[in-house]
Amino acid sequence: METSEFEPVLAAVRTFVREQVVTREDEIETKDEIPDVVRQQAARMGLFGYALPEEYGGLGCSVSEDVRIGMELGYTTPAFRSMLGTNNGIAGQVLVNYGTEAQRQRWLPLLASGAAIAAFCLTESEAGSDPAGLRTRAERVGDRYVLNGVKRFITNAPIADVFVVFARTGPEETGNKGISVFAVEAGMPGISIGPRDHKMGQYGAWTAEVTFDDVRVPVDALIGESDGEGEGFHAAMRSLGRGRMNISALCVGFAGRILEESVAYAKSNRQGGRPIGDYQLVQAMLAESQAELYAARAMVLEAARQYDAGEDRRLGPSCAKLFCSEMVDRVADRAVQVHGGVGYIRSVPVERFYRDARLFRLYEGTSEIQKLVIAKHLLTET
Ligand SMILES: Cc1cc2nc3c(=O)[nH]c(=O)nc-3n(C[C@H](O)[C@H](O)[C@H](O)COP(=O)(O)OP(=O)(O)OC[C@H]3O[C@@H](n4cnc5c(N)ncnc54)[C@H](O)[C@@H]3O)c2cc1C
Repeated sequence: METSEFEPVLAAVRTFVREQVVTREDEIETKDEIPDVVRQQAARMGLFGYALPEEYGGLGCSVSEDVRIGMELGYTTPAFRSMLGTNNGIAGQVLVNYGTEAQRQRWLPLLASGAAIAAFCLTESEAGSDPAGLRTRAERVGDRYVLNGVKRFITNAPIADVFVVFARTGPEETGNKGISVFAVEAGMPGISIGPRDHKMGQYGAWTAEVTFDDVRVPVDALIGESDGEGEGFHAAMRSLGRGRMNISALCVGFAGRILEESVAYAKSNRQGGRPIGDYQLVQAMLAESQAELYAARAMVLEAARQYDAGEDRRLGPSCAKLFCSEMVDRVADRAVQVHGGVGYIRSVPVERFYRDARLFRLYEGTSEIQKLVIAKHLLTET
């Protein structure tokens, strides 16, 4: 997008987040849902498809633009971004990069407009960090594939219209090479969604188990060409690579918000007749958070630039995801400390943020997995 087009979009997202979502954070937390009015307005603004190509109704943001929007979305409860995240990111990008023209035409306009929600179904009980353990099977029977298996922790599963499902079409011994990916319409016989997971934080974002029991999908549900079996692992890794940039940006935006709350509290809360911000040990906590936030923001912008330039799409995203997700946890931890006992009490924003932030080190590749990716690059590709 031209700068002159992108800056107003960014400004509109910023205003919307601050005026319409931040003001409803308590309601989202208490009711564990994003209000319809917020979903509808986000759809009207194009937020369900900001990272999808323009020819399918998206805003066509580059990764550099995607991360700047991510930093704005990160300013509020991460549940809001979660509602939009699977369409723009991990699920939508599989269709963008691997789908046939017919599959893209069928799904992307619906995803971009927010008329449909996509869920990304990779994780299973023994296939989280390592998809090679994947047991869900898709067997070709005539002009159908028959899917059987159980996926867990699937974001947006309870509201999904399409499941992007990773399933084994080859024998177990083929490991990552025997994995394919399917676009499975919700509501098909044999699909069942479990109860919503009772999570530690990020209320308003829903995850659940998804069971496929003899689900018979047409052969053109296989994402890619008809001989495209075995592409699933690459499709997952490519989507997750870009997804890591978006998560890193969210962490930056979220850390900024958490620090603002901490600074405001340090200025207003008094001990010994003075604001606690007068005490140098409190100042040190704020300064450490600010310095880390500065570094994280610069890192995300540089990794995004390299991503767009095609210079690096693996090392940068993993370094950024590792650093930013660990950073926001430290910032949230210090924020509770700055608030003292108040920071431990429900309904105080930093108490909620502390729980919300913890997820970033876990999903879309744990910190340990990011370290393995980084080390592998250093040891084998430099
Ligand atoms: C709220 C939430 C939303 C999610 N949304 C989705 C979604 O939409 N779609 C989806 O497919 N998944 C989703 N996930 C799943 C998430 O991506 C996985 O939980 C994550 O990848 C970790 O996998 P796991 O839970 O199986 O843990 P495990 O892989 O069992 O890991 C447990 C521990 O072992 C470590 N470990 C594992 N393997 C290694 C290794 N080789 N070397 C060193 N350490 C290792 C891990 O780092 C971790 O510390 C979600 C999870 C949550 C909690």
